[in-house]
Amino acid sequence: MKNAKCKKCGKPAVVKFRTYRISLCEACLPAFYESLVERSVKRHRILRENERVLVAVSGGKDSVALASTLKNLASKLNLSLEIIHINLGIGEYSEKSEEVVRELAEMLEIPLQVEHLSDFGFTIPAVRMRKVCSACGTAKRYLMNRYARLHRFDVVATGHTCDDFAAFALKNIAGGNLEWLLKFQPRAESFAEGVVTKVRPLFERTEEENLLYVKAKKLPFLADKCPFSPPKDEWKEIVREIERKKAGFMRNFVRGIAKIAAESGESVASVKYCKICGEIASSDVCAFCKLRLRSVVAGSENEMRRCTGYFM
Ligand code: SF4
Ligand code: ZN
Repeated sequence: MKNAKCKKCGKPAVVKFRTYRISLCEACLPAFYESLVERSVKRHRILRENERVLVAVSGGKDSVALASTLKNLASKLNLSLEIIHINLGIGEYSEKSEEVVRELAEMLEIPLQVEHLSDFGFTIPAVRMRKVCSACGTAKRYLMNRYARLHRFDVVATGHTCDDFAAFALKNIAGGNLEWLLKFQPRAESFAEGVVTKVRPLFERTEEENLLYVKAKKLPFLADKCPFSPPKDEWKEIVREIERKKAGFMRNFVRGIAKIAAESGESVASVKYCKICGEIASSDVCAFCKLRLRSVVAGSENEMRRCTGYFM
């Protein structure tokens, strides 16, 4: 960044957004970043005027950037916002995450709902599965959708990034898994009763951009890694390596895939509802209830009864 000047104000620049070939100072960076998100939201019709948006915030940089940019968009699109944070019961990590989200919600003046997984009979460390992250994803999706449905939100917004989507897309192309690839939408409309529409306003923003934004805006965020997070994500490393050689690759790639997915139309599998909790399921019992039943203390019949009876 030697001698580079901010394109907006002429002061010394501190960062360069390579995809956009623009150098910026710290003071001009947030408005530029927010204008990019606004452009994505309008171009892809990710959010519509007057919608009630439930914003999922874990406390990491991406979801913190999401909440802050949606706050900026709320007055322009007349959105009403509420943050949901899910405490996964992962010891100190979950305690710190909740603290950060409470601080953020207060700073942005957005109402906050904290759901504790332990209130549903288990925590993530109690999950007896090899793929803990996949169980965690099931729990988060379930609790977000459930809360949004019960409180009549129009959409649930998540902080999925360009890196997430590019890695996901490449992995599925490599595996010939086109069915999954075609689920890729910045706005995934509800496909059945009880399923709330999901939106991903940051799908064109890289994790690097999100980090620059939250730091420039001095927003609270948790940099600690979850103790269960895998040591490395090789698919993300691959797409970032291509990005280093070809600036803008990730954004163009995810845009292209989203276009193909939108043009291919949706194929909706038959819908079932869980016999235990009534939420959407792919078999008689939903993935969340299966998880709950497997995770309760072995041999504890009372606990098992409490869990199966939770939603009755
Ligand atoms: Fe959940 Fe895995 Fe993320 Fe930890 S790393 S919060 S277990 S998805
Ligand atoms: Zn269920």
